[in-house]
Amino acid sequence: MSAGTLGAGPPVDPSRSDRAMALLPFRTRAPLYWRSLVFVALACLSLVGLEGFRQWTARENRIEAIYRETANLAGSLSQQATNSLQITDAVLRDIADRYGDGSALDDDARQRLRAAMVGRTASFPLLQGLFIMDEHGDPVVTSVPDPQPRFNYSDRAYFDYHRGHAEISLHIGEAVLSKTSGNWIITVTRRLNKPDGSFNGVVLASISLDFFKRFYDGFDVGERGVITLVRGDGRILMRKPFEEATLGKSMLNGPVFRDLLPRGPTGNAETVSSIDGIRRFLSFRRVEDFPLVIIVALSTDEALASWRAATWQGMGTAIALSLFLAYLGLAMARQARQRDRAEQAVTASEASYRLLAENASDLVLKLDADGQPTYASPSCADILGYEPGPFVTLPYGGLVHPDDLPRLLAIMKAVAKNGHGSATTRVRHRKGHYIWLETSLRYIPAERGFIAAARDVSERRAVEDRLAATSRALDERRHRIDLIGRMAQRLPCCRDIREFSVTVECFVPQILPGVAGAFYLFTAGKGHLDRLAAWGDTAALMPAGFEAEDCWALRRGQGHIVGTDGAELVCSHHGSQPRPYACLPLVAQEKTAGLLYLQTAVDPADRDMNMLVETISLALVNLQLREDLREQSIRDALTGLFNRRYLEEAIELEIARAGRDNTPLSVLMIDADHFKRLNDSFGHEAGDHVLAEIGRLLAAQFRAGDIACRYGGEEFTVILPGAGQADARRRAEQLRAAVAGHAFVHQDRDIGQVTLSIGVATLPEDGDTADALLTSGDKALYAAKQAGRNRVVARVAAAA
Ligand code: GH3
Ligand code: MG
Ligand code: MG
Repeated sequence: MSAGTLGAGPPVDPSRSDRAMALLPFRTRAPLYWRSLVFVALACLSLVGLEGFRQWTARENRIEAIYRETANLAGSLSQQATNSLQITDAVLRDIADRYGDGSALDDDARQRLRAAMVGRTASFPLLQGLFIMDEHGDPVVTSVPDPQPRFNYSDRAYFDYHRGHAEISLHIGEAVLSKTSGNWIITVTRRLNKPDGSFNGVVLASISLDFFKRFYDGFDVGERGVITLVRGDGRILMRKPFEEATLGKSMLNGPVFRDLLPRGPTGNAETVSSIDGIRRFLSFRRVEDFPLVIIVALSTDEALASWRAATWQGMGTAIALSLFLAYLGLAMARQARQRDRAEQAVTASEASYRLLAENASDLVLKLDADGQPTYASPSCADILGYEPGPFVTLPYGGLVHPDDLPRLLAIMKAVAKNGHGSATTRVRHRKGHYIWLETSLRYIPAERGFIAAARDVSERRAVEDRLAATSRALDERRHRIDLIGRMAQRLPCCRDIREFSVTVECFVPQILPGVAGAFYLFTAGKGHLDRLAAWGDTAALMPAGFEAEDCWALRRGQGHIVGTDGAELVCSHHGSQPRPYACLPLVAQEKTAGLLYLQTAVDPADRDMNMLVETISLALVNLQLREDLREQSIRDALTGLFNRRYLEEAIELEIARAGRDNTPLSVLMIDADHFKRLNDSFGHEAGDHVLAEIGRLLAAQFRAGDIACRYGGEEFTVILPGAGQADARRRAEQLRAAVAGHAFVHQDRDIGQVTLSIGVATLPEDGDTADALLTSGDKALYAAKQAGRNRVVARVAAAA
């Protein structure tokens, strides 16, 4: 995701929303599991089948080779038999020729014939013996060494045969045990005729079976293979392996003689032996020129042993491979099934989620990696005023409030990393206003995008904002009340109105931040107000004082609030200062002590403001009460002048200050003349009246810095800080003259002239302590009395 892309809003492919939808429908094709299984089964079957076919072909080839081998062998053996019999035949003919009819056979001839016969047997190892026997079966000449055995052979089958058959052709007899040697032999015979053609005996060659045995042993036909030499009538002449029991047995009913030989002189077949019941591959061949058959047979078991082993191996390998394949395939198929199920579950849940999304009141969105919606649920129309279709074509970044966009991008970046999160941002409604959307985001790595559920929380935000504002207001109010409380604690501790003003000036701008204002106080009894404090931007513009009459609040005795609309009268003291403003009288215990002026529109029902005004008012009236009490403690009740106690305190302070400032100071000691007499004449009450009048004259005569006291009885003292002797004398004289010239009247009675005697003492000439100074003044006063009263005397000591 890049901020730029979302911000700028990429050109959106409208078909993307369709792609998002395409994820949702169910699949209908066959489950991958079964397709995988079928594929694997086919693969395994093919593998095994191919191997089977290969092995079957190999078997055919092998059998073909076996027949070739056996046929070749049968050919060779047949040739050997032919050769042997031809030799034998030739030898028999030669001997028969030499013998003739036997009539001319004398001893010599006999010996020669015998020698020839022995010679032949020596020359041809296959010939064991040669015999000539007469028509009775008795041997005439033999090749057998001496002494000649005297056997009769008329019992032999060949003898019987020749005696009964006129042909002189070669006759091959059965295998028999030789009467002379005791060996197994085959007899090969010819008939001897007398000159008249009658039977004259037989010439015989015996061929040892050993000869064939040795010869056949030269060929390997396996342990269960056989080579059989059979006579034309089916009787066995020789059989390898050699077993006496088999010799002479008939094979006429066996498959070779019964089925095969009738079809041709050579051939081959797979048969079961009629002799031993063993199954074999055999080749047979008629021996040329002789009534013999050669059969070479290999046991099928042995002949196919190597093929079978190869087959086992090959098939074993194929089957093992198939099993392995099947195992793999099954595992894959299971995986595929799991995936299928998972996909189905996902599809189903997608469908249900889609159902949820479509029916949710929340806005459900799919966003791509750039944060652009690719799908929006129908509630889009209710929440943002856009139909889902057009909505996803709008650059979403452009709808998000510019102040919220960077935050949203940062959150999406974090969600792409952490998986989920939420953001509350403003998004522009179609009608132009912004609504607050609380969006839960989840990152879907597989789709490289987000799923979002957005809820309109504008109302909640508004409530929250109101709550926050209320809370802020409460906080502010608590702070204000706290400040008012702190001010309320401090104001009663102020020692005088100056401290009081500073306190007001310190706290009120804190309590009402940004509001300019001023604190005015009544000058006692004069209907005039003085500004004691002012704050804020326009402080300098506020009048230093004004008459109570100029203020509508003071005239009406209640707060006067003036807005900007001109609906209310503006106080003349306000002048051209900015409006709105409020004049709030500071009233407590029915006494208006001052005014709080504020340049803001005050709500008359604002309890905090009322509390502020009340707090200041109460504290102010309390302060004034306290000041009044203090005044009473230092003032003389009759004359309103300071009393003697105050004088004693004040004179010490003033002497110290004069010393510090190096300024002069004088005291006047004043005593009314003949006051006893006045009392006596006009009464004590009139005396009191006169004393009060003198006090008023005294107060009027002197400046604010001067301290006029009633010392006691009809005696007064005035401290004149900064006044030298001359100055003091002059002012004493003025006082004396003023009193002397004043007409005292009490209850319409003229009291007549009242005079004063005044003693003046000046620091430091007349004393540098209070006592010294007052004593000097007393002395001067005494001197004035002595000198005739109604006069001023200074520095008696110096004069004296
Ligand atoms: P002088 O001082 O001229 O010698 O005569 P004096 O009569 O004033 O002298 P003194 O000091 O003997 O008398 C003071 C008189 O002042 C005594 C008393 O009757 C009168 N007096 C003192 N205090 C008061 C007061 O408070 N009221 C009134 N009416 N009279 C007072
Ligand atoms: Mg006196
Ligand atoms: Mg007196």
